[in-house]
Amino acid sequence: MFLVLFLLSLGSAGKAEASGAKIYLDGEQLNLPSGVKVLNVNNSIMVPIRVISENLGYEVKWEKSTQTVSVLDSVTAVHMNVGKTQSQVNGIEVQMSIPPMLQGGTTLVPLRFVSTEMGMDIEWDNQIKAVYLTSSAPPVATEPVQVSPPPAGSVGSNPGAVTPVEEVTPVSALASVDGISFVDNQLLIAVSGKVTPKVFSIPSPDRIVVDLPQSFLSSSFAGSDQQVGKETILPLEGYPDVKQIRYARFSASPETVRVVLDLHTSKAYELTHQNGLITLNLNIEQTAAPAEPASSGKKIVVIDAGHGDGDPGAPSVNKRWEKDFNLAVAQKVGKLLEKETQIEVVLTRSNDTFLELKDRVKIANNLKADVFVSIHGNSNNSSSANGTETFYTRDASLSFAKIMHSHLSKATGLKNRGVSYGNFHVTRETSMPAVLLEIGFLSNKGDETQMFKEDFQNRVAQSIVDGIKEYLKVQ
Ligand SMILES: [Zn+2]
Repeated sequence: MFLVLFLLSLGSAGKAEASGAKIYLDGEQLNLPSGVKVLNVNNSIMVPIRVISENLGYEVKWEKSTQTVSVLDSVTAVHMNVGKTQSQVNGIEVQMSIPPMLQGGTTLVPLRFVSTEMGMDIEWDNQIKAVYLTSSAPPVATEPVQVSPPPAGSVGSNPGAVTPVEEVTPVSALASVDGISFVDNQLLIAVSGKVTPKVFSIPSPDRIVVDLPQSFLSSSFAGSDQQVGKETILPLEGYPDVKQIRYARFSASPETVRVVLDLHTSKAYELTHQNGLITLNLNIEQTAAPAEPASSGKKIVVIDAGHGDGDPGAPSVNKRWEKDFNLAVAQKVGKLLEKETQIEVVLTRSNDTFLELKDRVKIANNLKADVFVSIHGNSNNSSSANGTETFYTRDASLSFAKIMHSHLSKATGLKNRGVSYGNFHVTRETSMPAVLLEIGFLSNKGDETQMFKEDFQNRVAQSIVDGIKEYLKVQ
């Protein structure tokens, strides 16, 4: 089964989903080619393949007929296909969490996947929205940098392709629909400006309709002459649930864009709208919670080991990974909580797998958990930064955070950095009291030595359990 991506794409102007992320290579900030936009799609940083060739110095090949992007150096060859999550690395099939996509004639590839496969270390600093790449062995730039300029039309080397003049409209109060695509069983609509989408489903035949009031199709929808009611159809192949996408300027008064998903069977969906990207997700039952707990009358505790698999988190001073530390502590907490007769414990991950932040949240929200605890190790450019810190986002979590921190801080014996507000996805989007524990600094020698010791982890796990029990008033 292949995922097929269809994208219509973006105008020339900066789009709201541009993440504004900075990219550092070996400590130097990269000067991205002009007109290049770094996008954040479901927490994956997507970059134009130009960045891979011009900034990272790898050879990039683009084959338009097969929509194949190849990234090469003297030892590694990564082949990816637009819209497909299967890739080949030195002849071996490797799954990607998000496929390359076409946008406005530019091919975007997931930066984390490419750089990891090419042997770089990658870290994401969410606070300052920066990607840090470390090249273990510098890519062998056999050719001077201008390697294989991709064919015209495949890459955003030509921002003038969409004449900005056409974007001058008398409709400044309207939102502009800049892109419509279907990726990974999700309908993505890129919008500039304010819009409140209306979604509803209609049976026989099954459809999901997304209406965008006070919106117009931007000039980047070439070929559509903006005649009211004139539909453009995008057939989809390889998706079990969705047959095709249709969109049109549905009405001129009020100005409305309508997007319709024609389904093979009726589907539940979830709509989110963030940073100019409207996402209609059809994957929602995948993380549906095991349905037993609610009836038991037990308190439900979700323990979240941060990061996992291809997202290793921060590296430690002794080259150990944050994901492994987080998992070790989470498993210990899980074991202890399993003995509690009044508590049902759920781990978001119990092995080295990767979960999107939103899926971690969904697990807790679907379960209607009583508390959520995310376990992390901290890191800082300065190796002297050290200590234990507890973060919360919503006010409703503050008293839980204080209780958790008092137990945790005593148990670690590290510097007490206190309880802080932090705008983390998992503590913000969960609907129950939620904390994110930064147990210690992996970038600090003293902290790190402790953190990978068995008895330290056992003490920390016990303190997390004690804090949860105190907060939930469980004996
Ligand atoms: Zn972390």
